[in-house]
Amino acid sequence: MSRPGALQDTHNRIIGDLRISITDRCNFKCVYCLPETEEAAKRFLPTSTETTEPVSQTVKKPLYPWKPRSQILNYEEIIQIVRVASQLGVNKIRITGGEPLLRQNVDWLIAQIASIRTIRDLSLTTNGTNFKRLAKRLKLSGLDRVTISLDSLDRANFKKITGYDGLANVLDSIRLAKSLDLSPVKINAVIIRGLNDQEIPQLAQFAIDEQIIMRFIEFMPLDSQHVWRRSHVVSAAEIEKRLHSLHHLTPLNSNHLSETSTRWSLGQGKAEIGIIAPVTQPFCGNCNRIRLTADGKIRTCLFSHNEHDLKSILRHNSYSNETLTDRLKQIVLRKEKGHRINQPDYVQPERTMSLIGG
Ligand code: SAM
Ligand code: SF4
Repeated sequence: MSRPGALQDTHNRIIGDLRISITDRCNFKCVYCLPETEEAAKRFLPTSTETTEPVSQTVKKPLYPWKPRSQILNYEEIIQIVRVASQLGVNKIRITGGEPLLRQNVDWLIAQIASIRTIRDLSLTTNGTNFKRLAKRLKLSGLDRVTISLDSLDRANFKKITGYDGLANVLDSIRLAKSLDLSPVKINAVIIRGLNDQEIPQLAQFAIDEQIIMRFIEFMPLDSQHVWRRSHVVSAAEIEKRLHSLHHLTPLNSNHLSETSTRWSLGQGKAEIGIIAPVTQPFCGNCNRIRLTADGKIRTCLFSHNEHDLKSILRHNSYSNETLTDRLKQIVLRKEKGHRINQPDYVQPERTMSLIGG
């Protein structure tokens, strides 16, 4: 059914969720996202038994330099896009990156977006390193909730995965987010075979101890060196099986059709497990998301090969809200039916997760 005035695609999906990357920069070098060093990328090179396995792309990609400031949307431009999108039914905004808390004055941006009456859910995804310094201001500015990435509870493994010796700092951030009630506090852990899958039980126990939501995410082919292989992916079914052998999991109903995770409660309290399985259990049919990159491109799918420039519209002399509205509607109309990760001809997009915004 068509809904006039909404952002609707040709597959009858209505867009309500906009994820905004406010910077392409990051202070981490997560091996599954931005492994800048040879050493990091080599962790994923195939063993001799894996060499016949299809890969998304075998050519090593050049490392991405950060974009110059002039190519990055300024906050006024971002707010303009949010205003127009909110008039078209978008009511959920996530600020992400790169590492969003590397950018100056994020609290100002949060306050501006929070003041748009129709935005009912304003969240932020962060690696947690700069969070302690900014958390109170973010809360006061109107941030509703936070998702913090944490792939390991072992100091050495955390450093190996992220390139940063900062486990204690990130744990402090998680506890601070709880105490400030930036809730529900969600934790993202990308699970990679041979790297941190042995920590699934400890990460689940962490959810119980801290009474938070732990989300296990399948490794997606969006890493900078394009060395993702199917054998690195620990499937949702396997994660679930491993958890069931240790804990009593009670299935939870999803809050929305568009929810990306399958959820279970752990025990009587607030602890929860979510599994996000874009590789083995794609959820494209209910996808209600679009993404805005830091340099002003709309991506209608994480795995898109096409992106749609809004920056040139915003910076054009004859800019008007009507032009932006029409452009957004046209872009969304062409949203892909689904991703092609599981097709033999799948080709990984140029951009890494850090350049798209997760
Ligand atoms: N820097 C922030 C952080 O790490 O939380 C925000 C941006 S990061 C791109 C957003 C989320 O994407 C993180 O939780 C990260 O773990 C996830 N991510 C990055 N690369 C991924 C990949 N190849 N597969 C699955 N998740 C990935
Ligand atoms: Fe940076 Fe986040 Fe990518 Fe890690 S996952 S490299 S913290 S953008």
